[in-house]
Amino acid sequence: MTERNSPLPSVDSLLRAPEAEVLLIRFGRTAVTAAVRGVLAARRDARAFGAPPGGILAEVADALAIRFVRSQRPVFNMTGTVLHTNLGRAPIPPEAAQAAADAMLGATNLEYDLATGGRGERNDHISGLLCELTGAEAATVVNNNAAAVMLALNTLALGKEVPVSRGELIEIGGAFRVPDIMARSGAILKEVGTTNRTHPNDYRNAIGAATGALMRVHRANYAIVGFTATVPTPILGEIARAAGVPLIDDLGSGSLVDLERWGLPHEPTPRESLAAGAAVVTFSGDKLLGGPQAGLIVGHKDVIAAMERNPLKRALRLDKGRLAALEVVLRLYRDPDRLADCMPALRLLTRSRFDIEATAERIRPVFATAWPGRDVDIRPCGSQIGSGALPVDLLPSVAVTIGGSALENIRNFLLGLPKPVIGRISGGRLMLDCRCLEPADEAAFIAQIAQGGDTA
Ligand SMILES: *Cc1c(COP(=O)(O)O)cnc(C)c1O
Repeated sequence: MTERNSPLPSVDSLLRAPEAEVLLIRFGRTAVTAAVRGVLAARRDARAFGAPPGGILAEVADALAIRFVRSQRPVFNMTGTVLHTNLGRAPIPPEAAQAAADAMLGATNLEYDLATGGRGERNDHISGLLCELTGAEAATVVNNNAAAVMLALNTLALGKEVPVSRGELIEIGGAFRVPDIMARSGAILKEVGTTNRTHPNDYRNAIGAATGALMRVHRANYAIVGFTATVPTPILGEIARAAGVPLIDDLGSGSLVDLERWGLPHEPTPRESLAAGAAVVTFSGDKLLGGPQAGLIVGHKDVIAAMERNPLKRALRLDKGRLAALEVVLRLYRDPDRLADCMPALRLLTRSRFDIEATAERIRPVFATAWPGRDVDIRPCGSQIGSGALPVDLLPSVAVTIGGSALENIRNFLLGLPKPVIGRISGGRLMLDCRCLEPADEAAFIAQIAQGGDTA
């Protein structure tokens, strides 16, 4: 049907209407024209003729507003999982985010040596800090820990065998499965031991002329209980040393400091791992470390140098923004006494139940007012560390919970807010764990909810 025969106004006349002017200024002619065509086409299909130009342009404005909403946006993490992979893992310190922004907004000395006026190395900004904090001889960094494992295997064991305990052939979620990463790296997986028990001799018997490296994978996200045996890292280090092959230790969520100091479960540190004889240790930047996504690699000088020479390194390298943020985060580790205040991830993990309860008490009334007919209460719950740390409720926390039927309506309302609120439905209630809602963000949180729970 042509526009001449249609009772709908023409694209041109709509674009010339006074109501279109503000849209043209805000979104530009190309986008507005496309949106006008889209709305007209939809009306034609629906045979919804006879609308005034103002009504059509209001629809165009709505369509443009939806189109121009940013896809990735900040959310309130009320899931109770602090380092939630789907929600972007660790929140980083504001000064680290600022350093990233500063670097990304302009030129930096990323690979320029200000002392000599010549070429520099991007790793030099963080390798000294990493060595200082782990006791390593050398260090480098790549896109994430999966890339770090890939680079270590590809550098040390391309076409060679790598014995790994059957109890450590884990899947981390998403697409990280140890056997798959090994295959793609070009190393040949040699399974040793059994699912529940692996002994030193299983490794010794597996080592031969074709062995490129030994690998240990920190079995972070599940526990083997009952009749079990694992080979402690120091013994594995000794076996590797005796055989003259390097030991790769994938720590996953390795922490640079002993978390027991804050009452959290012990996570092996890279320093311990190196002392136990690992030639290379890999760990994530955005798990317990509390920094940006990155794969940190520390170890022996010759091994790290070989990784730097590997052409894969170029494909896996980190950009200047994340390097700048990581540098700031690593510097904060020089003062461990202040970490629990200045490192947001650690601050959330160590937040007291009483403090969380106070937040819950302050936000509960807003829900009760927004949904007067609903049963809204405060309940104890357990938060999780997340990102592969022990998958059991470890951290005593408090949630605002909402009961009743059609909880999906409330959940969808919360997901549709300008800063979406993400909770979880469990045991017939919508649970909003208040651990990650810090006092500084409460006012913004409350204002959003107060603006209308009526519809849900
Ligand atoms: C999380 C994890 C990985 C993957 O690390 P990313 O930084 O997500 O790439 C690898 N190995 C272990 C043991 C892990 O816990």
